[in-house]
Amino acid sequence: MAEKVDLHTHTYFSDGILSPRALVVLAAERGISCLSITDHDSIDGLEEATEAGREYGVEIIPGVELSATLGVKDIHILGYLFDPSNRALRTTLDLFKKERFHRAVRIVRKLNQLNIPLRFDAVLERAGHGAIGRPHIAEALVEEGLTSDYVQAFEHYIGDSGPAYEPKYRISPEDAMAIIADAGGISILAHPGWYVNEEELMQLIRAGLDGIETVHPAHDDGRRRFYRDIASAYFLLESGGSDYHGGRRNDDENFGTCVVGREIPAAMRRRLFIQ
Ligand code: AMP
Ligand code: FE
Ligand code: FE
Ligand code: ZN
Repeated sequence: MAEKVDLHTHTYFSDGILSPRALVVLAAERGISCLSITDHDSIDGLEEATEAGREYGVEIIPGVELSATLGVKDIHILGYLFDPSNRALRTTLDLFKKERFHRAVRIVRKLNQLNIPLRFDAVLERAGHGAIGRPHIAEALVEEGLTSDYVQAFEHYIGDSGPAYEPKYRISPEDAMAIIADAGGISILAHPGWYVNEEELMQLIRAGLDGIETVHPAHDDGRRRFYRDIASAYFLLESGGSDYHGGRRNDDENFGTCVVGREIPAAMRRRLFIQ
């Protein structure tokens, strides 16, 4: 593959480790010429990445990974090539961030009621620049010596059926797609192999997906072919990337190897009638 394109990555503005600049520098080192940062419910890294991209010769495509809910499942919709200054999009992302903060406050309160003296500040320290998630709370619990390890934190307290669980603010897939479309972008279902069956996939296609992420570390060759055939049958775009979190999940080798070609962003632009 002549040119390497990675359209799925995370920075410390969500649950990645690297800053946008550091991610762009590493992308250039690994021969990636076109990159999209798709932080969870945040586009806070876009400006810094665009600036660094100009310096290092890496094209930056606006991206985001929105959390939506399908029945009881949490699914992720990738948005690309939207206008980052779109008012409605910004309002939604602000709301996501605020709601995550309040939810973390509620979780810590529940923990305190269970006689786990976790300080909210310890959670904030873990979250750093990013929106607060349960991984930060789990890390803070471990750091403060309140639980033996990360997995135990979920099992005993903050897992989906734990006593300190609080649901996340989520929107429907239709709303997520509408927000992205209204901002002039396209919607791609992230890593379907992780969480949707064929029936749910068809439901999302009918709801108006523009495309499917076919290339992802969680998809083996068979899965890729399976989703590629569906994309072709329903005239959908394909997308792909490494879902690199900066090494947080032993994912270092995927960055620069789990890539797609230039034809992928080119097709996205054609669909939007832009150059
Ligand atoms: P949040 O978006 O704040 O609800 O956090 C969700 C994240 O928490 C997931 O992406 C996982 O990384 C992590 N997580 C959720 N449940 C568990 C679990 N049982 N064990 C370990 N990590 C988990
Ligand atoms: Fe993530
Ligand atoms: Fe995801
Ligand atoms: Zn992701």
